[in-house]
Amino acid sequence: MKIHEYQAKELFAEFGIPVPEGTVVTTPEEAYKAASEIGKRVVVKAQIHAGGRGKSGGIKMASTPEETKAKAEEILGMTLVTHQTGPEGKLVSKALVEEALEIEKELYLGMVIDRETSRLVVIASEEGGVEIEVVAAESPEKIVKEFIDPGTGMHAFQARKTAFGLNLPKTVLRDVTRLLMNLHRFFVETDASLAEINPLVITKDGRILAADAKINFDNNALSKHPEIARLRDLNEEEATEIEAAEHDLSYVKLSGRVGCMVNGAGLAMATMDIIQHFGAMPANFLDVGGAASAERVEKAFTILLSDTNVKVVLINIFGGIVRCDRVANGVIEAAKRLDVKIPVVVRLAGTNSDIAADILNKSDLKFTVAKNLADAARKAVDAVNS
Ligand code: GDP
Ligand code: MN
Repeated sequence: MKIHEYQAKELFAEFGIPVPEGTVVTTPEEAYKAASEIGKRVVVKAQIHAGGRGKSGGIKMASTPEETKAKAEEILGMTLVTHQTGPEGKLVSKALVEEALEIEKELYLGMVIDRETSRLVVIASEEGGVEIEVVAAESPEKIVKEFIDPGTGMHAFQARKTAFGLNLPKTVLRDVTRLLMNLHRFFVETDASLAEINPLVITKDGRILAADAKINFDNNALSKHPEIARLRDLNEEEATEIEAAEHDLSYVKLSGRVGCMVNGAGLAMATMDIIQHFGAMPANFLDVGGAASAERVEKAFTILLSDTNVKVVLINIFGGIVRCDRVANGVIEAAKRLDVKIPVVVRLAGTNSDIAADILNKSDLKFTVAKNLADAARKAVDAVNS
């Protein structure tokens, strides 16, 4: 689960990670008031779950409360398109009004779980403010990494070593070390899966502050942290994914044109691979679960069809727990009720698959019944390309 920058900064403050003074606002009038209270130059920052705002007009400076109000008017209600939002962009309904920092230097600081070593890795760079992927490609020697043993947590020497690796002025070493220890504590105690401060700023008057904050939390741990689960902003999430989750369907929207309905996550991934193998892209990942009941199939159909990119549906179900003939009847019922107009390719394997094929072939809906997965994928790809 992602949260907004302003929420992340509130959490940071609780964990002793210094952040600029700021207030979240939803109207230009509130922005005026916030700027008056801060009483100096401010930045107005669009709050969306995506980075790249700076380059896309989502971050503006203002010198007076009047100017802050005007900038907030521009930002609030705008649809912000950044390289992370996709071409449709994100509607901005909140902005963070924050004291503007006099930046001396921008650093990068990130913590993430490294799957290869099963450890938390601290990634830091004296080259901040730009994307870390760019630094990694162009000047990898400017990236320092420190792996943390989950048993012992971060040692003070590891925090110092990381801070030393950033070529910092001596005056801020101690603050950066403390910030690293606090960020690590935050990461572990909240079950974060990613924490990124880019940029971590050294100001002209020698302060260290998190000027940006991007956090992801491990969804599987959210039940342990109701106060964090409350920070979820459903407006930032894909509506169809929320609806799918409410019906216990695992659905992830993608950008291709072959809608997939599969039971079992492994089979769903294999299905996506084979679609690509034959030359098309899947429109989604969708696992309807072991028991593909008529209601679940219908719900899954509804969700698939609400994506207008979907030009063909590929149903790939293994009838182990549920018999194929029951799935076939469920598919027919759902297709009739929803008046499905696009081609549907069906591959059913397992118990009673022959009976199922017969039922589908005899129905007055024009299903394409496939012999096996390769056949199904080929037929679905042909349907998309024709
Ligand atoms: P992002 O573009 O979505 O990652 O948003 P950031 O919060 O990282 O801001 C982008 C850039 O705007 C930063 O790298 C800074 O260069 C600049 N910026 C953000 N806040 C301030 C500020 O308070 N003062 C100054 N001078 N620049 C800022
Ligand atoms: Mn940033």
